[in-house]
Parts: sequence; C-alpha cells; structure tokens
Amino acid sequence: MEGSRTAPAKRKKSRITFGGILLGILKVIFTLLVIGLLTAGLFYRTFMRYVDTVLEPEMDVDASAYVLKQSSVIYYEDKENQRWAELQKIHGSENRTLVDYEDIPDHVVKALISIEDQRFYEHKGVDWKSTAASVRDTLLGRNARGASTITQQLIKNLTGEKQVTIRRKILEIFRALRFHEKYSEKEILEMYFNLVYFGHNAYGISAAAETYFGKEVGDLTIAEGAAIVGITQNPWQYDPLRSDWSREQNRNRQLNVLYKMNELGWISDKQYADAKKEKMVFVGDADYVETKADEESASGSELDSFFVEQVFRDVVAALQEKGYSRTAAQDLLYTGGYQIYCTLDPRLQEIVERVYADRSNFDYTSEKGEKLQSGMTIIDNRTHNIVAIAGRVGERQGAFEWSYAASTSPCGSAIKPLSVYSPALEAGVVTAASVIDDYPVHKLNDSAWPVNAYSGYRGLLTIQDALRISSNTTAVRVFEQLTPAASYTFMTEKLGFTSLVSDDISAAGALALGGLTNGVSTIEMAAAYSTFANNGVYTRPRTFVEVRDSYGNVVIDNKQDSWVAMKESTVYTMTELLRNVMKSGGTGAAAAFPGMTMAGKTGTTNSRRDRYFVGYTPYYTAACWCGYPTPARINTNDNPAAIAWNKVMSQVHEGLEDVDFTTSAEGMVRVTVCNKTGLLAGSGCGATRTVYVPQGLAPAMTCDAHVPVDFCTEGGAPATEFCPEELRDTHWAIDLSAPNTAAGFGYTREHIWRSLSSEQYERFSAMMEAGVIDLMPDGTPIYASDSEYLLSDIETMGTCVLHLTPPEEVPPDPFDPLNPLDPNAPFGPYDPADPNNPVNWFGDPTPPLQPIDPNQPGGTQPGAEPETPAPQQPDNSNAEYLDDYLHLNEPEQQQQQP
Ligand SMILES: [Zn+2]
Ligand SMILES: [Zn+2]
Repeated sequence: MEGSRTAPAKRKKSRITFGGILLGILKVIFTLLVIGLLTAGLFYRTFMRYVDTVLEPEMDVDASAYVLKQSSVIYYEDKENQRWAELQKIHGSENRTLVDYEDIPDHVVKALISIEDQRFYEHKGVDWKSTAASVRDTLLGRNARGASTITQQLIKNLTGEKQVTIRRKILEIFRALRFHEKYSEKEILEMYFNLVYFGHNAYGISAAAETYFGKEVGDLTIAEGAAIVGITQNPWQYDPLRSDWSREQNRNRQLNVLYKMNELGWISDKQYADAKKEKMVFVGDADYVETKADEESASGSELDSFFVEQVFRDVVAALQEKGYSRTAAQDLLYTGGYQIYCTLDPRLQEIVERVYADRSNFDYTSEKGEKLQSGMTIIDNRTHNIVAIAGRVGERQGAFEWSYAASTSPCGSAIKPLSVYSPALEAGVVTAASVIDDYPVHKLNDSAWPVNAYSGYRGLLTIQDALRISSNTTAVRVFEQLTPAASYTFMTEKLGFTSLVSDDISAAGALALGGLTNGVSTIEMAAAYSTFANNGVYTRPRTFVEVRDSYGNVVIDNKQDSWVAMKESTVYTMTELLRNVMKSGGTGAAAAFPGMTMAGKTGTTNSRRDRYFVGYTPYYTAACWCGYPTPARINTNDNPAAIAWNKVMSQVHEGLEDVDFTTSAEGMVRVTVCNKTGLLAGSGCGATRTVYVPQGLAPAMTCDAHVPVDFCTEGGAPATEFCPEELRDTHWAIDLSAPNTAAGFGYTREHIWRSLSSEQYERFSAMMEAGVIDLMPDGTPIYASDSEYLLSDIETMGTCVLHLTPPEEVPPDPFDPLNPLDPNAPFGPYDPADPNNPVNWFGDPTPPLQPIDPNQPGGTQPGAEPETPAPQQPDNSNAEYLDDYLHLNEPEQQQQQP
C-alpha cells in the first residue's frame, strides 16, 4: 500500500522536474541561438570582407577564348624586312576536336545533366541544396557527396585547381556564381563537353565518341551517350576499354544514367527499355566494324618543328602559371585566336634541321642496333633568345616526338666550368695561376677515385691543362675546396638550373663530374654558357617574346629575368681556359672551325654513354648532347656532339666577322708564374706562363721549389755513393717544403699508392722487391707521372739498390798480340803497315790496313769493323726512360740550370 501511495508522489515529483529541465533546456537553446545569430552576423561580416578582399581578385575565370574558337598564329621576326612575319597557324590536336553545342545530340546533354547536375537549369551556378547536404555529411563524418555543379566542374577543369581546401571550395562557389552570370547555359555546356576528360586519353566528347565508338558525336545513340557521359566522374573506374572490371563498372554507371533520364521524364519508357537492351560495341571489340578504315587518321597538328613545339610547350607553361590547367592552356592555344611572337631564326633553324635530318652526321649504332640520337639548342648571345632547336636525329615521324634538346640528359665534364671552376674562381679558391694535382683524391672500394677519361694521373697540372685535358681529379679537388653546397647554390641561383636535386650535393662527384641525378637539358646548358659570352650576366632563355589575345591585348609578356651571375674577372679567366680546350690538343678541338673566336667544353660520362659539347662564340652559344635512346656505350673515340656542333656552328657563322669576346682583363694583375707551384716564376723554375689574376689574389712569393737530385739512371732512384759516374744524372725535383713554396703553394701531396706503368713496373722491380715501392691493393699498377718528381716522393723511394758496394777492381787486360791497337802492347799501339813495325819482323802482316785516321788520338780505322767490342757504354735505355719518366707529356719543357 505504501508503495502504491508513494509511487504517484514520485511520478508527480519527476514530472515537475522534467518540466523544469525542459524549460532549462529551452532557455539554453534560446541563449545559444541568440549567441549563434550574433556570432553568425559577425562571422558573416568578417566572411564577406574576406570574400571581397582576398577572393575577389581570383574570382573571375575567363573563358572567352573557348567561345571564340579561333586559330592561334605564331609569328617570327623577319629581320631583313624588319617586321613580324607569320610562321604558322596552330589549330586542332590529335586527341581533341572541338564541337559546337548544336552538334551535340540533345540526349547526350540530358544524360550529362541527369547524372551530374539535375538542377542545372534552375540554379545559378551553385546548387545550395546539395552543397548543404555535402556540408552536413562532411560535419557528420560521412562520405561527402559530390556537390559540384557542371559549372563548378568546368571551372575546376579550366583552372586545374583540384585540391580540396575550404578556401578553394569557397572560391570555387563564388567563381561559379560569377561565371554563371557571365556565360549562357549553352556556352557552359559546350565548354564542358569540349574540355572534360572522358578517359582513355580522350579529351572532350568528340574525342570520346571517336575513341569508344568510332563515331561522330551526332551519331551517338542514347545508350552510347549514357555510356560516355557516365565516365567523367571517374575516368579510370568507368573506362570501358581498360579492363573487364572497368567495363562492368561502366555498364552499371550507364544503366544508372538511363534510369535517371527516364525518371526525370527525359526519355520515354520505350527509349529506356531499348537503350538498356542495346548491345554496346566498342572500338577494338571483335564485332566492331571498322567504318573508317579508309580515312586517314587526322593528325590535326600543324606543329612541324621542334622549335615551334617548344614554343607551344613554353606558352602552355606560362598559361599554367596564370592559373590555367594544362589541358585548358592547350585548348586556349588551339582555339584562343592568340598571336604568339616567337624568337625563331629561320636561317639557323634551317641549318640545324638540315644537319639533323642527315643520319650520316650521326652515324653510330649501339650494340643493340639503336641509332645514335642527339639534341641541340642555340642561343643568340645578343638577345639571349633561343633561335634554333633540334630535338632528334632523322626525319620527323609526327608531332611532339621526344625532344632530346628539351629533356634532361647526363652531361659529364661539360658541367665542370659551371659547377666547379666558375664558382671557384668567383670565390677566389683558384685563379689562372693555380696549379692543381692530378692524383687520386681518395680510395673508393679499393680503387683510386676518381679516374680520368684518359689513362692514369699526371701530377701537378696548371689549371689551364687541367681543363684542356678535362682532368677529373683536379675538378674534384677544387670542388671539395669550394664545398659542394657553394657549387649547388651557384648552379641553381646564379646559373638558373632547375633540374638539380639535393641528392646532387651529397653524391660523390655528381656536381663536379656531371653525374647528376636528372641530368640537364641543352636549353639550360646553352643558357648557362651564354653567361660567359655576356660578361657574366645570366639571362633566362626564351622561345617567345609575347602572346596577345585576339583583341591585341598582351596576355603574356615574356620579359626575361636577368642578373649578374659572376664577376668579369671570372668570365675573363673562364673564357681563356675554355678557348684552350678548343685549340689543338684540347679535348674540344674537333668542334673548332677556322675564322671565328670560340670557347667550349666537352663532356663524356663514365661508361661513355653520353657525349656532350657546349661552346660559344661572340655571336651564339650552342649546347649539344649525343647518346642512344637506351643508354649504351658509344663506341668511338670521337665526340659526335663536338662534331655536330662544328657542322652546325660553322654554317651558322658563315659570313660573320671574326671579332673577339667583349670580356677584358681590365683591373686584373698580370703575373708570370711557375707551372709547378703557381708562385711567381723564379730562377730555378722550368716552364712558366703569364696570366691575369684578380687584384689581391696575385701570388706574392717567388717559387723556390726546384732542387737538384743526383739520380742513378739505372736504379731509377737517388744515387748512392757507389753509383758509377756515367749513370748519374742531375734531376730537378720539386720540394714542396721549401719555405716560399710551403707558405705560398700550401699543398702537400699525400700519396695513396705509388703508381707505376707496366714499363716502370719492370724497371723498378728491384725496388719493389726491396719493399721501397708500394703497390695498388689489387696489384695492378696504375699509371701516374710527374714531369718533375716531388722531392718527398723521391725521398720515400730510398736510394739506388743496384749499386750498394764499391765497384770491383777490374784487372788490366793482358796484351793481345793479334790486336795492333791494344793499348797494353809493350810498345803501345802501332801501325801494322809500318815496315819499321817490330811485329812485321816476325812474319806477314795480317790483312792490309787503312792509314791511321789522324783525328783519332788513340788511332782507329774508320769504316772497319772493330774486332773487339768498343768499351761498354752506359745503358742508355734507362736514361731515356728516366728522361721520359721525368718529362712525361711535356716534351717542350727545358730544364734550366740555376
Ligand atoms: Zn717554380
Ligand atoms: Zn745506382
């Protein structure tokens, strides 16, 4: 009973409490609502200010060019007549044909609207209902549904901006609203159908109809239209030609489109039923009937040179920078009625194309049977414009073939002047007076590193010789002194290289020797080298000057960035060094042609798979790469790139006056320096040279490094006290610890191995047995030479091991009675014919003899074979050898006696 009494009380109490809570909740909700509204009001004002200030400038999307559909025209400068002449028109492309709205069947338009944007004709560019649903789903963590209208999708395709950020989303909404005001629904639909990607490399509905059904757009059936239109949402998933799975996906999507069209009343039940039943026959299917077999596959593209194609690429890239997507930019070029002013020089392009069309100019075949390929770029040094491009060897096979001029390739040593010597000269690490050691830098995996393109190592080299013979070790030495980071910065910030990656800083010798991750393009290389021809000013190269729209307004003003990349002293020195390379004996001699001032550098990659040449005259700079499509060894000692450079540039410069480079040594100091130490030439120095060095970097001290060493020519080492006099030879060694040299030269070689040629190996075997000479870890002698041997090396050699004891006393010859000339004869040598000769008293004189030669004090018979050998001569082969050894590769060098 109590229980029954208390229960209502409880209920009552709880009812009261519930009412209170409800009231409380309502109050809270009301308060929140007020706060919310206030906040929303504030937020709205802030938001609109954001829209007005931040988004406004980006809100307008211009598509006028699409509506115009005019061909663009490329002009070149006709210098003779001082006017811009039409080079060619650009229209159409292989994978896109534009269609007018009128040519698109109504059912295709309806299919699109039904599946992508049902309320297209009602909204103003943005479908608020589905946008709200999408926002709600996003907030609830569900999969957000695609809320984009056709207008929004079109804008995405026009701008190429597809990343999803709130800012982008808001911007897109405002852009769509603005766009919808500007263009009619027909125009929007037409642009959409022409722009959007329908999978399988088909851009636009026309290409899609051709790709999937081999039909004109106007001939598509309802079923076919639905199949194509369904693709756009996910061109990979719904591609009917890609796989069985994706064809099934396409089928489901197509049925979905047809269902919607029927649901919306846009196709009748009969049409719906027929369309569902229709058998889809795709291009490539067994029962696909090739109806257009006799039709030429329209290439459409009018682009007929690598130069024009490069212009096209560059203009597209410039439009992309302005916010267009790549496909939109390409369409603009085909249809925008643009006027493009390019930098082509028809005379030069003609020369390049003639040389490159002729296969015999590149007559090399790889082991796999591939033909050698090549690319070349020429820049006019006065305008900094690219004036001619060759993208590959042989006749053109079609539009937009792979361009070896624009793509990146390994360049080998051609990089050294840019990545090593210029920045090192700029930083004062080296000057024209420098001497650098051509000797392994270190031991890498039990081998000497780096190796040179020529065999062995040549010891102390002038910077001139180091570049002329393209020594790798010297480049690495200078590079390490410069630091890899400084080299990288110079290349990217001063010389405009964009293809380098940070791995190139750490990789051993990548920057110093040209083993770059991505390689470089001939365009980048020509631009960088043209800096030398322009007194150190780098200018970004270009293929076009300006692009104007059909009204004559400038759309792209392609002004060139330009900056001082290096000091004039660097340019002067570099040019002197690179001139040397093209002289006889230099690696670039094959590129040289008479009657023109020029400088340049070769490049060969390690496995000899690539050959490079970059060179410049006062007029033009050209860079050339050669290699096989599948990298393989180019089996020739020639440099095909240098030869191609010669063939093109000699014609390019026909009729041009030979002038000098404009760079000068003004403000530099003229010094005569020792070729072995780089110090001021002293009385003991052998070869010297006179060079210009920047003020403040001139050597202050005089060379004192040359010291005489008494050498035993037979033992190939410093003579012992017992080495015979006739085997002794004075040689001039270099003492790097001499006071001035130690202070001014500042370099001591640390030998890793003493390295010998096979000939040396034999001759020095005695010393090796004595353990005085070190060998390579694998026992292979590597060739190294010093024109004047380092004293430190000579000292580690020890002394001659062949003459360690005093020479034995040779007992005097006994008198030979048959030899009338024997000095040991009791009465001295005598004339056998002399009747007073005591010998004649004992019998017949042996063979009748000639009269004595009066000039021979000892008496001899000219013309007669001496019966006994002449006194033993010292072994001259050793002397010659040592002479070679000490003067290798420098035959011109004379030893001066102090
Ligand atoms: Zn010297
Ligand atoms: Zn000796």
